Amino acid sequence: MLAPAGILLVAVLALAAGPALSPSLSGLKTLGPFVLLLFGTAMGLWFNRGRSFIALASLLGAFAGYSLALDFGAASFAARAVFTAAAIFVPLNFLLALIFPERGVSHHFNYRWLMLGVVEVLFVAWIASAGRSSLSGTAWEDMLEHWLLRSPPTPILGRLLFVAAFLAALWRAWPRPPRTHTRPLDTGMVGALLAFFIACEWAGTSGAFSAFMMAAGAILLVSLLQESHRLAFRDELTGLSSRRALEERLHGLGPAYAIAMVDVDHFKRFNDTHGHDIGDQVLRLVGSRLAQAPGGGTAYRYGGEEFCILFPELGVEETLPHVEKLRADIAAYQMAVRKPDRPTDPETGTRLRHLRSTEKTLSVTVSIGVAEPVEPYATPAEVLIAADRALYRAKEGGRNRVSI
Ligand code: GH3
Ligand code: MG
Ligand code: MG
Repeated sequence: MLAPAGILLVAVLALAAGPALSPSLSGLKTLGPFVLLLFGTAMGLWFNRGRSFIALASLLGAFAGYSLALDFGAASFAARAVFTAAAIFVPLNFLLALIFPERGVSHHFNYRWLMLGVVEVLFVAWIASAGRSSLSGTAWEDMLEHWLLRSPPTPILGRLLFVAAFLAALWRAWPRPPRTHTRPLDTGMVGALLAFFIACEWAGTSGAFSAFMMAAGAILLVSLLQESHRLAFRDELTGLSSRRALEERLHGLGPAYAIAMVDVDHFKRFNDTHGHDIGDQVLRLVGSRLAQAPGGGTAYRYGGEEFCILFPELGVEETLPHVEKLRADIAAYQMAVRKPDRPTDPETGTRLRHLRSTEKTLSVTVSIGVAEPVEPYATPAEVLIAADRALYRAKEGGRNRVSI
């Protein structure tokens, strides 16, 4: 949420400072949103993110259309018609994109989205040209006076759609278990909608429409970049930082630190007995325990069922009580799982769940090896290998233990 809020704040400040800016920067008002929205749309396409693409393409269409219509004068029928259409179609497109599942841009169903876009553009162009060509009548002029469509500021219908889309975006962005974190693409949709709404409400203020359209584009663009960063440095299953993040962190360590390698005991057997889904559930559980490592430790998913905890500024001796506590916590935890033979009929399922007879508990243990830099094995890579050797000794010693 921080990035969207920051961008909105910058837009407000830029608007306040707007009149003080030199005239040479005024070209930014039209070119800025164009470049940003076009670039964002291209990025959405490139990253194959359907929702962001639809949002950015809608904003680009709205901005381009309104800029064109403004050539006829801000009070002209064309400008008012395009504004009304933008304030309705943009939130509508956001809403549709949020309701339908994310399938990526290249999915073959997307010709429907393309058709929707083309229909919207043609429809708006047709209405906006009312009275200018023999094809379009003048009936639309009265249409814009309807209480649902009247503007300024944003027409009531646009506000209603905005509220619906905003609620849908919030609902998507809200963290729900097992996911504990918000995803940048989802919060980006919330922020972009908000920016677009402000742009519409303030469309009468000089520069405000441009500034907030630019903010909406920037919010979506940044969310795409944050998402790709997250994909590279976060592990999807556990929400922990990934091995790549650990490797970057290792370069910046001071002289004193300790590394703990954690490995789930007999995990293959566990997977084979209870299935891969429950195996994943175990990894999430272990991950969430390790994420709360005491002593300033940061947990990473190293790969498979192996984790790594980095304790900066602690030696092995100071680290031991912390990892021992983690080991004991994990061993003591009773994980509730559903039996695989649970009833498929939902009614019976509810009744039985009420009795809690479909649940059983499982527990897992982990083995941990700890190491610190000691000459001649003083590089982070060597300490990592030493921790791995210590882990092997913990396994040899009978598992569910910590070894140095
Ligand atoms: P040990 O006590 O010696 O560590 O025995 P182990 O069975 O845990 O060790 P091994 O390395 O032989 O098995 C690791 C297994 O972890 C293999 C694979 O089935 C499972 N595994 C690796 N990654 C994942 C994952 O992301 N999800 C699930 N469910 N299982 C995974
Ligand atoms: Mg292993
Ligand atoms: Mg293992």
